[in-house]
Amino acid sequence: MNTNQNILRSIPSVNELIESPEILKLTGMYPRPLVVEAVREVLEDVRQLLLRSTAEPQQSPPYQGGIKGGVETSDLSQNTDISPQRLYPLIERVLRQKFCSIEHAINATGIILHTGLGRAPLAEEAAKQIQDAIKSFCTLEIEKYSGKRGLRYHSVEQLVCVLTGAESALVVNNNAAAVLLALDTLARGKEALVSRSQLVEIGGSFRMPDVMAKSGAIMGEVGTTNKTYLKDYENAITENTGLILKVHQSNFKIVGFTETVDLKDLVALGQTRNIPVMYDLGSGALIVLQKYGLPYEPTVQESIKAGVDVVTFSTDKLLGGPQGGIIAGKRRFVDAIKKNPLTRALRVGKLTIAALEATLRLYLEEGLALNKIPVLKMMLTPLDDVEERCQGVISKLSSETKASMNISIINGFSEMGGGSMPGEGIPTSLISLCSEKTNAEEIAARLRENIPPIFARIEQNRVLMDMRTVYDEEVEVIAKALEKVSFKD
Ligand SMILES: *Cc1c(COP(=O)(O)O)cnc(C)c1O
Repeated sequence: MNTNQNILRSIPSVNELIESPEILKLTGMYPRPLVVEAVREVLEDVRQLLLRSTAEPQQSPPYQGGIKGGVETSDLSQNTDISPQRLYPLIERVLRQKFCSIEHAINATGIILHTGLGRAPLAEEAAKQIQDAIKSFCTLEIEKYSGKRGLRYHSVEQLVCVLTGAESALVVNNNAAAVLLALDTLARGKEALVSRSQLVEIGGSFRMPDVMAKSGAIMGEVGTTNKTYLKDYENAITENTGLILKVHQSNFKIVGFTETVDLKDLVALGQTRNIPVMYDLGSGALIVLQKYGLPYEPTVQESIKAGVDVVTFSTDKLLGGPQGGIIAGKRRFVDAIKKNPLTRALRVGKLTIAALEATLRLYLEEGLALNKIPVLKMMLTPLDDVEERCQGVISKLSSETKASMNISIINGFSEMGGGSMPGEGIPTSLISLCSEKTNAEEIAARLRENIPPIFARIEQNRVLMDMRTVYDEEVEVIAKALEKVSFKD
């Protein structure tokens, strides 16, 4: 009988393992059923590996590692001990991977609207409004003066109208929902004319042609990839044309020999032919960012001013609020959209309303918005302040840590992200880290294991931490994390 079979026999049972003092510690930290599942999984992995190595000893010696069911059994490769102490880290790792809860993270990627990290972080005012209004009962759909049933969206819609000049507005789950709902209402069974240069894909699963198909609108492509003229729309209009659609090329740019039609001209065409015009703005800035030295991004106000019938935009991109989508424009059309039964399926909850209302209220005073809304604040943080944050981190490091890694401050670019301002980097200051002792992937992995996890970029085998997207309070946390990941002997 070979050693593997002996070890196989000595594998503890799930129950034995669960009752061992080591594993009992885990049941204090994770729900018991999950611990049982993780124990079972690790034991099964160990058993399989042993069986395999018994069957074909030449090809695969015992415990030569490999990843199965998320368990990296390579830890066992040097050691055939299967005591609870030995299995504990494996079980703990499975649990950590399975039970990854939503938690605070530090964004040192320099991507301001990072979808993986939750897109727009909320203003404190918005977080506070969620706390204050939602902890107990709230006036979600009731009018306190009359005591009568009120409208869920009223406050937010009023703010949107005041801020943008729209006659009416509606909030839904996200901008994808806004586009779907507007198309379904305005163009179901009819043709929606759209330029071939605007059939965009916005990360994940939002592809304009697919959303149009889902809404029941028939896509009427006009123009070419690089050039679309007003006459292309004019020539394409038939009795069955229900909508003229313009889509903002949020996340890409076409440069060179190009031609697009201004919203104003589309609006004029729509008016003469009695066809509504819709603009999917994507980001939907509410502030003219050029004033502050940032690239041009169309604002909601200028679209409304141009006379568009309906605009749609996200509330968690440049607007800097919670996930949501807004449909705004002429009362006639927005009211028709409100009556669509799909609206109920796409509606937002009270958390969204509380956070969005508080965020929009900040826009009543531009200075307040720029100061309080993290997305805007991060975009506008002067380079010197970002560099100061880098120095802040480095100054807090011990000399041993500094000596154990190559740490320097370098210049680079932050990105807007979230499909806004493509190719327009914002000059920034980064901490560059590397070590002869390991590669950048390993350093980045260790930073992600910190509590809170720190997310950074990797470039040319260096870890880059962009301090533009880091909060002042997080500078110290990063310094402490670097002390831990450093390679002091
Ligand atoms: C981002 C974007 C969307 C999707 O918005 P979500 O809020 O992410 O659903 C749709 N259209 C355009 C042009 C966009 O930029």
